[in-house]
Amino acid sequence: MSIRRILSQIVDRSIDRHLARCLLCGSAEEVRFGTCSPCHQDLPALGHACQCCALPLAEATDRQCAGCLQQPPPQACSHVCWYYAYPVAQLIQRFKYQRDFSAGRTLAELAAFQLAPQIKGEHRPDLLVPVPMHWRKQLFERGYNQAQLIANILGKHWRIPLDNRALRKTTATDSQQKLRRTQRRKNLTHSFVAHPRVRGLHIGLVDDVITTGATQEAAAQSLLDAGATRVSSYALARTP
Ligand SMILES: [Zn+2]
Ligand SMILES: [Zn+2]
Repeated sequence: MSIRRILSQIVDRSIDRHLARCLLCGSAEEVRFGTCSPCHQDLPALGHACQCCALPLAEATDRQCAGCLQQPPPQACSHVCWYYAYPVAQLIQRFKYQRDFSAGRTLAELAAFQLAPQIKGEHRPDLLVPVPMHWRKQLFERGYNQAQLIANILGKHWRIPLDNRALRKTTATDSQQKLRRTQRRKNLTHSFVAHPRVRGLHIGLVDDVITTGATQEAAAQSLLDAGATRVSSYALARTP
């Protein structure tokens, strides 16, 4: 059995146990995708944000942030559901570091539902590609790639094929948070390699959190370099 099938089954089983009750408050009423309706509405929605990098914007008339206006990123657009804040941040951490697959699946299913209008018509990607982890990190530290599980669920809901191997991370990079934008871009430029089979395709790049945006930009650039016609980025949460 492939590792993807096994992961898919673990996820399916773990969510079944939680489906009946809200993951956040334990209520059994109006539960959909693992959360009750009031808890779902309380999640920190991202709201108005830069169409390129999903950075929250104060002015309702602005479509792009200053950074993207100055230096347009390689991805055509970024769509994100929530702020990386309570309780989304805690759910993502449980998913990422404590193997709480029901937390990850709940967020991914809510995201699939919430982002569905963004993939209509010409905006629909041909293929979903998760942001990869360096193999050493995936194998020895985490054991699984959270972006892969999210992409798996989005793909199932949106009926878009998934390719876990179209993008490879070639270098294990340290945290980029303290670096300036240009330096981050430079550091990550050659850290991803995309397979030529992405040629001619509109790729939906999937990750759990967009922090600085540098990872999405480097991954998107390598996909475009390999011949992808367009890259749209999707994530659960965004740090402000
Ligand atoms: Zn609830
Ligand atoms: Zn932006």
